Amino acid sequence: MRTIASLGELRSRTVIVRCDLNVPLDGGVITDDGRIRASLTTISELREAGARIVLISHLGRPKGAPEERFSLRPVAARMAELLGAPVRFVGETVGSEATAAVAELQDGEVVLLENLRFNAGETSKDEAERRAFAGQLAALGDAFISDGFGVVHRRQASVTELAQLLPSAAGRLVASELEVLQRLTVDPARPYTVVLGGSKVSDKLGVIAHLLERVDTLLIGGGMLFTFLAAQGHGVAASLLESDQLDTVRGYLAEAERRGVRIVLPTDVVVAEAFAPDAAHEVVAADAIENSAFGAQGIGLDIGPDSAREFAAVIAESATVFWNGPMGVFEMAAFANGTRAVAQALTETSAFTVVGGGDSAAAVRALGFTDDQFGHISTGGGASLEFLEGKALPGLEELR
Ligand code: ADP
Ligand code: MG
Repeated sequence: MRTIASLGELRSRTVIVRCDLNVPLDGGVITDDGRIRASLTTISELREAGARIVLISHLGRPKGAPEERFSLRPVAARMAELLGAPVRFVGETVGSEATAAVAELQDGEVVLLENLRFNAGETSKDEAERRAFAGQLAALGDAFISDGFGVVHRRQASVTELAQLLPSAAGRLVASELEVLQRLTVDPARPYTVVLGGSKVSDKLGVIAHLLERVDTLLIGGGMLFTFLAAQGHGVAASLLESDQLDTVRGYLAEAERRGVRIVLPTDVVVAEAFAPDAAHEVVAADAIENSAFGAQGIGLDIGPDSAREFAAVIAESATVFWNGPMGVFEMAAFANGTRAVAQALTETSAFTVVGGGDSAAAVRALGFTDDQFGHISTGGGASLEFLEGKALPGLEELR
């Protein structure tokens, strides 16, 4: 992977840095600035080198046109505070205003351009459209640094095509994330446990096939646990279920047995009457979800206390733990206990621990844990999972 050093002398050169500043916002207020903090190493290094720095990022999922609620403006203000230096915000990504702001940059100064995804070319499926947009971006700088680890698994203009148009290199965040993930793929200390949860069930099921070749134990919580329970023939009432994945999941269960990999499913579940913070709820056995007080309406929103204890015990005995995806709907206090128990166990084990995933990272911080209690908190959920799956990540391939 080409490093920043491979770009040579950077003083007075304009360097475009693709960051992942996709932070959670609540009414324009940043609720978790972890991704901004994670971007600072590269930016500080470039400032010290006297580069003129143009930051680009996406935020949320606008549909190729400006939408005020997805503006990066609040991010510029927070970044300036954390960096201890001005960060000029420009209200467009490309155009005369952006060109003028970049031309005015002095050595060591920083601008942040508006959300990349306000431009249809950024995420277009049409390569020519992505190329055209990347060309407009490339015209703003002399070199490109790819440091948005959360997007390196995407084929998008600012990730892949832009890297082809300028001298390009991996930034510090991308490099450090890869170093950690390599520890998980090349000879991890055993027992090696992976904890999977969250709501992107079909996205994440794919990783299991690959993990079965490497891990000793898989702990399954979050939304995906119901597809496992259903695959074993249990009813799940109104819980999240991907019924087209049942055969796939049965295949994983059989494969795990063949390989001697332990798949641990929850034995109890917190079932609620509705998907709401104040919904009535009770703990029921995982094989009797339909028998809860809420019958067919019941929704499983967290793993139960027995399961949380068992997961914690497995984590305590592990030497390597990777965790992606909350165990329940942690955003609602009543359904945060499973996630809290897993996070707590990660902070207490002597294992090397990695937390990957935007919501997982936000969850541990929201529950009051701090980054230094974990071996590593990855800024990229999808990217780290695809790396663990052994897939080539398009954004990284461009930097080799
Ligand atoms: P990450 O960003 O860490 O990769 P995901 O995006 O896959 O994680 O999933 C995070 C979301 O999963 C959270 O918003 C959480 O509320 C939700 N979730 C967890 N358990 C359940 C469940 N049982 N039913 C519905 N949603 C769930
Ligand atoms: Mg997520």
